[in-house]
Amino acid sequence: MSSSEGQSIILSPVGKVQREILDPILRAIPQAFGFCARTIALLDGVDFAFDRTRVQYHSTPILKKLAMAAPPQALKVIAVTEVDLFIPILTYVYGEAQLGGKACILSTHRLRDALSPPKNQNIYLERVVKEAIHELGHTFNLRHCQDPVCIMHYCHSIKDVDRKNDQFCRYCKVLLQDELNRLEAGLQSQSQLDHP
Ligand SMILES: [Zn+2]
Ligand SMILES: [Zn+2]
Repeated sequence: MSSSEGQSIILSPVGKVQREILDPILRAIPQAFGFCARTIALLDGVDFAFDRTRVQYHSTPILKKLAMAAPPQALKVIAVTEVDLFIPILTYVYGEAQLGGKACILSTHRLRDALSPPKNQNIYLERVVKEAIHELGHTFNLRHCQDPVCIMHYCHSIKDVDRKNDQFCRYCKVLLQDELNRLEAGLQSQSQLDHP
């Protein structure tokens, strides 16, 4: 293994999140980014982010707390929650990420839209995985992509989510690889510092 051994991506459920939601994300992370993924609950809850007027949770303070709670070996942290998230300029968000930073969050709340139960659990899980990898993509410095089928495409609606596939387009793949190389170089100098 390379010097990145030991670095992993933490999947942090917030509140009750079903195992069947977490497992597909855990499987998708190494495929997308080449790092192993582990589940650790880093936050007790997100009540501190609750907005009484909107009856939703503000995602930005959650990201800050998440980044602070991350253990040193966590390269990135993704929180998964069932509560409805917002940022002040938008009615709701599927998630939010620190661009090129450590933390991101995904809400499953709106991803059930337009699925009449018990209709297709697979579509729901595909949406969850797409948006999880999308948010993590931002932490690897990827911005929104114009390609409507690229996983980094910004989705206004659940139709947009269903239309895009679960892969990075060629262009985003190159950008991601650049970032991974950059991180690898950084991790190497880090490990040299750790083990002179
Ligand atoms: Zn995005
Ligand atoms: Zn793309």
